[in-house]
Amino acid sequence: MKACLICLVFFTSFSALSQNIIYMIGDGMGPNYLTAYRYWLQKNPNKQIDQTIFDELWTGMAKTHPDDNTFITDSASAATALNTQVKSYNGAISVTADQTPLTTILEKSKKLNYTNAIVVTSQITHATPAAFYAHQELRKQYPQIADQIVDNKINNQPILDLMLGGGIKDLIRDDRNILAELQQLGYQTQADYAKLDQLNKLPAAGIYFDKGFPSAIDEYPNRLADMTEKALSLLASTNKFFLMVESSQIDWCGHSNDIACALAEMNDFAKAIKIAKHYVDTHPDTQLVITADHETGGLSIGSDGVYKWQTQYIDQTKSSIRVASKALFSAKSLAKTWSKYFQFELEETNLQALTKLQKAGDEKQFKQKLTQYINEKSFTGWTSGGHTAADVPILSYGKHSQLFSGFMDNTEIAKKLDSLLR
Ligand SMILES: [Zn+2]
Repeated sequence: MKACLICLVFFTSFSALSQNIIYMIGDGMGPNYLTAYRYWLQKNPNKQIDQTIFDELWTGMAKTHPDDNTFITDSASAATALNTQVKSYNGAISVTADQTPLTTILEKSKKLNYTNAIVVTSQITHATPAAFYAHQELRKQYPQIADQIVDNKINNQPILDLMLGGGIKDLIRDDRNILAELQQLGYQTQADYAKLDQLNKLPAAGIYFDKGFPSAIDEYPNRLADMTEKALSLLASTNKFFLMVESSQIDWCGHSNDIACALAEMNDFAKAIKIAKHYVDTHPDTQLVITADHETGGLSIGSDGVYKWQTQYIDQTKSSIRVASKALFSAKSLAKTWSKYFQFELEETNLQALTKLQKAGDEKQFKQKLTQYINEKSFTGWTSGGHTAADVPILSYGKHSQLFSGFMDNTEIAKKLDSLLR
């Protein structure tokens, strides 16, 4: 009896402790991206392979199929499943097939007096973050989603107490200025990313670029990590918080089949995860859960039957293919401009092929040829310019990590997170 009482007291205090939640989502981050990141960091192939932060925290896998017969989810449907516990159709922002709103996990946490925060490198209105605070028939209805930042209220307050990300175009419009409305509601607001340091109180909204941030490989390589650190510094003084962090652009690089771009995003995400893990170490009342919404691109490490992956060509790629292609296509001297973006030599045959497409004015083909060339150099394979149905990794850290171990449906992650809210 005595033992049971001690047990009960221990269990109660143990359960009551874990109340902050950090939920991190790598958009498009299939397990192959974790593999790629691990081997990309390994610079000497003869050395022992070091563990990455992803390897260290990896506890399970999840299936991601949407509520239709396609097997392949988009980010809207996946984010709906990952926070409302219910699968819906592709394009749905936290609504059912008949457009009934589904209660989001941030609506629930707000009712329980949590301080809610979202940090993303896409627009704050993009599918993944939107599904946490809005209900919309179609993900592309950005202005309607933006309106819900202010209009969707719990206890007469907006759902988000802190938002950091892109999307000025959706928030500051001719018909409505959501950022100004937030300011009137008492939010500290800013639209200049250089001033991130000056954010010093909640509620707050930092919306920095017209759409998403530039790619990490092109500019601000640590922006997700820096915003995560800022968010946690502001949230540390709250009673309890729910922070959702999305590494939004792993997916965008995957759609472009751009491996150097994807790895730069993974690197920023890894730094953000390390910051979150450190927060859990110093605040054990916090549970960290990391997953992905789906895989993008059908990435393979090794291609064309060749048993090697030549990461030196990835290291020597100094910009996203999107940015490099644009500059090279309009360059007077392709050969001279090349070295600004790539530190390996452009062979004569490829120079000729690219010059031919440049002269023909075919920018799309030019970009495709460039992408193919970079992937052939490194032996990186891709099967799609879209998403795939590959299962995704689950990583966790904190006292309740056993809940997130093993294989489960993506809706189970939401259910288990929900069980931690108190
Ligand atoms: Zn995508």
